[in-house]
Amino acid sequence: MQTREVHVGNVVIGGGHPVVVQTMCNTHTSDIEASAAQCRRLHEAGAQMIRLTVPTLEDVHALAEIKKRLRDSGIGTPLVADVHFSSEIAIAAAEVVEKVRINPGNFHKDFDRACEQFARLVKVCKEHGTAIRIGLNHGSLGERITTLYGNTPLAMKEAAMEWLDLCVENDFHNVVVSLKASNTLVMVEAYRLLAAAMEEKGIAFPLHLGVTEAGNGDSGRIKSAVGISALLSDGIGDTVRVSLTEDPEREIPAAQYLADRYGHKLHSTLTQVNIENGKAAATYDSPSRERLMLDMACDFGKMLLDRKIDDVELRGRYRSETGDEIILDGSEEASYFSDELLQAARRRFYKPEYVACPGCGRTMYNLEETFNEVKRRTSHLKGMVIAVMGCIVNGPGEMADADWGYVGEGGHKVTIYRKKTPVLKHIPENEAIDRLLELIEKER
Ligand code: SF4
Repeated sequence: MQTREVHVGNVVIGGGHPVVVQTMCNTHTSDIEASAAQCRRLHEAGAQMIRLTVPTLEDVHALAEIKKRLRDSGIGTPLVADVHFSSEIAIAAAEVVEKVRINPGNFHKDFDRACEQFARLVKVCKEHGTAIRIGLNHGSLGERITTLYGNTPLAMKEAAMEWLDLCVENDFHNVVVSLKASNTLVMVEAYRLLAAAMEEKGIAFPLHLGVTEAGNGDSGRIKSAVGISALLSDGIGDTVRVSLTEDPEREIPAAQYLADRYGHKLHSTLTQVNIENGKAAATYDSPSRERLMLDMACDFGKMLLDRKIDDVELRGRYRSETGDEIILDGSEEASYFSDELLQAARRRFYKPEYVACPGCGRTMYNLEETFNEVKRRTSHLKGMVIAVMGCIVNGPGEMADADWGYVGEGGHKVTIYRKKTPVLKHIPENEAIDRLLELIEKER
């Protein structure tokens, strides 16, 4: 889909330009030193755009100082303010950075009031040449839209179209849209619906792709690559973020590979895939384990999501970090990769499904360590959906279909959720995993 160009500082998104790679800081924005240092590292790692959370008006001042320090050191990477709920903060941030990411539906419960506040933000963005990302995540759509359409890909598309119509009415076109979900099927369907709706209306705004709360390690990479590559190979998507519950620098190689592989939106099949009786097989000779995982997700992910195949078989080899040749044919690791792929495409569940946010400046505890411990202690709960979220402000809304949620409150306290309901509040961090497991066991 040929989208219009959106200018974000010195970067152009859409209009046939190469796919832009972006990421997000996980520092506290108010910690200017740490945030500026992380931005420098992310820039060096290849991030073309960097987002920072802006929970308060004070953080807008910190953001201005971070930007100044980066520009003073010759780094022109555009900065994006991540703002939730407050149009005042979004407006203040729009005067400072090149792009603001918001969900305008969260500005106010009353739709008309939210529209008024969004129009004020648009006016400021027009004055300052600031871009907007309308970021609507599955699970945080708001009551009005889910009452009409359910918590579905259709609801995500409809919500996005409402805000895009408002942008067009206000003659504002510097807009990018994202419809992220942790569930790859939901995510891919939502973007496809939106791309078709925009094309029909002749308002092709660029799309920011991502599988949100994808977790970490192998699963996070495979899940992200399955969702993102399915869309890029459809010719949908102009900028990508691979969200991992890890140091954000580690997101860049995977995001960059996906952006490069699909280049100017021309699908290049790098691997010969043979299909027989619903089973697809491919032979690899990969320079690394990560590259193998990304390639197999790109080669098989879309076919699994679209039910063109039911199973996969991996053959060939890859090089380990120490340079050893690891043979896949018939190995346990090859069947582990197949299991991961099938689960990422939601075709077969061989372990629990984890939902974990990447963390940001709102995170109040060691998210990565806690997530790894939750994974270690719940690995037997096949098919259960367990969320580990960094903050109580957005975590509960964004964990969508999770059966259980571990949500950081701040002050070393945790709230445990059973689906959307908080069932234990203010639990000390060092007891929270035990309490979560007790609750799960009680119900089994
Ligand atoms: S849920 Fe996680 S990534 Fe989202 S705002 Fe909270 S801490 Fe940040």
